[in-house]
Amino acid sequence: MTDRLINLYSDTQTRPTPEMRAAIASAEVGDEQKFEDPSVNRLCELVAELTGKAAAMFLPSGTMCNEIAILVHCRPGDEIYADATAHITNFEAGGPAAFAGAVTHSIDGINGIYSPERLADSIRQPTRYSPTPRLVVVEQTSNLGGGTVWPLETMRAVTDVGRSHGLSTHMDGARLPNAVVASGHSFADHAAGFDTVWIDLSKGLGCPVGAVLAGSEDFIEAAWKWKQRLGGAMRQGGIVAAAGVYAFEHHLDRLADDHANARRFAELVADVDGVDIDLETVQTNMVFADVGATGSTAAELSASLEQEGVRIGAMGPTTLRIVTHLDVSTDQIETAAAVFRRVVSS
Ligand SMILES: *Cc1c(COP(=O)(O)O)cnc(C)c1O
Repeated sequence: MTDRLINLYSDTQTRPTPEMRAAIASAEVGDEQKFEDPSVNRLCELVAELTGKAAAMFLPSGTMCNEIAILVHCRPGDEIYADATAHITNFEAGGPAAFAGAVTHSIDGINGIYSPERLADSIRQPTRYSPTPRLVVVEQTSNLGGGTVWPLETMRAVTDVGRSHGLSTHMDGARLPNAVVASGHSFADHAAGFDTVWIDLSKGLGCPVGAVLAGSEDFIEAAWKWKQRLGGAMRQGGIVAAAGVYAFEHHLDRLADDHANARRFAELVADVDGVDIDLETVQTNMVFADVGATGSTAAELSASLEQEGVRIGAMGPTTLRIVTHLDVSTDQIETAAAVFRRVVSS
């Protein structure tokens, strides 16, 4: 049953391929905390070089990358500017407040992308009464925005506004590899205006675990203190880091297939009665479908689709999110679209 299921729930649900498992099995390892794990070292060097930063650190998850970055950038009472849909605000269990004592200031963007003008309007005049403006966060790609790609010019303008107010800048690059492949611009070009950036290994890259956070030498040194404190420091972490190295070498270019599959799915179902898909927002590996006009809730349709062998998650009362990844073939996309048409129209 699970094998026959076409799983469009999330790109986090991929299983390591046999080749990736072979890379894991033959990984050279050592004590990561002593910088003696060659596979972890290699992965960190690779990500630092790709993103154009001085140093990088391997962590168990993207959430820990965000939270440690916020802990290093912010002090209690500081304010973080991010789109209203941001992962740090909505999916990290209040982490910025719980750990750093920082408040998030939500900016209303369009499809997860806010304008430099909106940011400038949001940043407070420093007064005795207000939180202290500290950090600008951009999510590339925007998850709840639909997998949309921030254009380089918009990011540059946004980070310029932040810097002109003396703020630090952080990129949540959970799906930065998708943005790189979709836009044709390098990792370093995307990361240029940001003090810190991280990449998730367990999303489109298809690894079982892990994420890598990059920044200046000083930043990474300060981040190590938190990694140690929070229990994110590992031992023979190379067992999982080897999957990351393998993924950067073999799973990057193929993200274009995921993007083509997402577009294919969207085009195949866009005309179904009661379904609203904004094809403009289908830029990477996600499709958001508003099913409000079908008369069914997203949860009801999600349950019916699962019974027919297609797993699609409900992201809101009337919103379904379809995510493509390396465990879904183009044939399966065509099958899933046919099932979607049948289930949603009935
Ligand atoms: C998945 C995700 C995260 C968190 O990453 P984990 O590795 O699941 O902890 C952070 N930000 C965005 C935009 C994400 O999609």
